[in-house]
Amino acid sequence: MSQPVQDIHVDIAIIGGGVAGLWLLNRACNAGYNAVLFEQQALGTDQTVASQGMIHGGVKYTLGGALSGASESIADMPAHWRLCMSGKGDVDLRGARILSDHFYMWSSQGTVSKITTFLASKALRGRVDALKKNDYPPIFHNAAFKGSLYKLVDMVLDVPSLLDILRKPYADRIFAIDWQQSQLQKKDSGATIISNAGNESVRINSQLTVLAAGKGNGELLQKLDVKKPAMQLRPLQQVMVRHRHHHALYAHCVGTDSKPRLTISSHRDGEYTVWYLGGQLAEEGASLPPDILIERARKELQTLFSWLDWTEAEWATLPVERAEPAQPGMLRPDNAWLSACEGLTHCVVAWPTKLTLVPNLGNLLMDYLTQRTIVPLHNDKIPSGFLQLDTIAPTPWQHPEWKKV
Ligand SMILES: Cc1cc2nc3c(=O)[nH]c(=O)nc-3n(C[C@H](O)[C@H](O)[C@H](O)COP(=O)(O)OP(=O)(O)OC[C@H]3O[C@@H](n4cnc5c(N)ncnc54)[C@H](O)[C@@H]3O)c2cc1C
Repeated sequence: MSQPVQDIHVDIAIIGGGVAGLWLLNRACNAGYNAVLFEQQALGTDQTVASQGMIHGGVKYTLGGALSGASESIADMPAHWRLCMSGKGDVDLRGARILSDHFYMWSSQGTVSKITTFLASKALRGRVDALKKNDYPPIFHNAAFKGSLYKLVDMVLDVPSLLDILRKPYADRIFAIDWQQSQLQKKDSGATIISNAGNESVRINSQLTVLAAGKGNGELLQKLDVKKPAMQLRPLQQVMVRHRHHHALYAHCVGTDSKPRLTISSHRDGEYTVWYLGGQLAEEGASLPPDILIERARKELQTLFSWLDWTEAEWATLPVERAEPAQPGMLRPDNAWLSACEGLTHCVVAWPTKLTLVPNLGNLLMDYLTQRTIVPLHNDKIPSGFLQLDTIAPTPWQHPEWKKV
């Protein structure tokens, strides 16, 4: 005999509790919608807690020597985030911790004149400042440092604190979901979630289902038998180095390529500092065995910071994938993405593509709701059988197996 089904009606059901899902929950609830979010692990699992926390205006995409679509479309993002941090934006981020109010960019040799000329050009005025020696951060006050240094308007956020601030206002609307006991099904031109936990099945009907599960969107699209839009995954292998040099550095090292050779963010781990290394190192090292990549990173730091002692440092790597809407030739998308699943106008799939672009994703959701004339309608609450979820995923450097090399 089949179980009785309790039908619950909400306005918006979001699946995935990374920065994207949490931001969209805030935007939707702030606008008066009855929105709820379902997360299968901990908040921010996968990409968000693994990110470097850079809220950037795209200058790193100008290293080819020209403004690209990507660099133009995100130029306004740092200002948007700062407004939110001051409590005057579309999402209230007061209380989220800023790790650094700016990001540096340095060229390691004098030979990258094309890039340095461009960085100093009119096109980037207001986004990049060339620094005089006296204004260098302490780590570069060394005679062995020969490069040029720039300061960007970008900032760096402490990601776990950001997730906590996004979670808090609507904590009673964030629920754990176990897909062993639940199903996502097509219904009319949208999707429903059916949960079979307990003695009764609950069917969550929504005016709009938002798939915001990062790389998990791939599986959700499969459950709904949706082929478009498709997802692409770009693999990376970040390197972590734990040391006692108390330099909190947030910087791109520019080589001769159009991408940063190395991107460094800094994080506290008790008495240690962890430098978290991304950029070309992580992209090109994605398929390398960890030991080889660590060796490459060690040589890189020894070359770039020859005046620091790395013998006591400990190392680890993190393989991770960036989830994005599929692009021709695996190119990086320029903007956040939100679109209807093929044939389902009441179910959308969303990828911010970058932490920085999450506000942009919020605007795309609000535009979609307006276009489809979806207005706040339902008052149902999620039944008490669903567990609220407030756990934030640990950062990658909290549990690695550190190695000395
Ligand atoms: C190493 C690295 C560094 C980065 N650094 C930066 C940076 O400095 N600046 C920047 O702008 N961008 C950066 N990014 C990109 C940025 O982190 C991502 O674009 C952003 O975090 C994606 O957020 P998301 O919420 O879409 O996905 P995720 O953070 O991946 O979150 C997805 C969530 O959905 C949940 N989920 C998955 N499947 C399901 C399911 N079936 N049901 C329920 N829940 C599910 C997961 O558990 C997770 O909590 C970086 C990315 C990486 C990988």
